[in-house]
Amino acid sequence: MMSTAENIKHYELIIFDFDGTLAEYKTGTIPDLVQAWFDKFNTEKPDVKLAIATNQGGVGLRHWMVMQGFGNPEQYPTEADVMNHIGSVMKKLGITHKICPVYTAFRYQSKKSGQWGVPADHNDPRWSIKWRKPNEGMLLQAIADAGTSADKTLMVGDWPHWAVSDEDERAAAYAGCDYLNAEQFFSYCALGE
Ligand SMILES: [Mg+2]
Repeated sequence: MMSTAENIKHYELIIFDFDGTLAEYKTGTIPDLVQAWFDKFNTEKPDVKLAIATNQGGVGLRHWMVMQGFGNPEQYPTEADVMNHIGSVMKKLGITHKICPVYTAFRYQSKKSGQWGVPADHNDPRWSIKWRKPNEGMLLQAIADAGTSADKTLMVGDWPHWAVSDEDERAAAYAGCDYLNAEQFFSYCALGE
């Protein structure tokens, strides 16, 4: 594999997946290498923009269950639960929403049947199908908001030992940006050194 460290300098935007990448799914535990990277980022303040793009289909499943009266919606998070959780991890990483905008996809899709849940708001992109990874909507929005282009953007997805799907890698391919998994990215510590 080519040294990723040399290549990091070429990126203007790094988009991180959240669950399974910045923090362990459910427990929210932050891997030491992730914390170390953000500590270094905050100290050195390199000229690269950050974003988080995360599928949070549990919110959509809860909404669907409530609207159609099935299942056990209390088992799934509300939008506020999700944003609080992400906010608490970001606080530990020392980053704000201004430094690192958060893009969330709430729409639920059944992995088994492929069926889509109902959106809470048809006009809110967070509930759109095109925002749910592996679709590229969130990534394209992050790229546009950062004022950069796909070829100067890197998507960082799940640690291989936590990975449950290839949705991040596929989303990166659809958006036209490069992809590294968390092990490749954080182990090389990046920031161009
Ligand atoms: Mg993930």
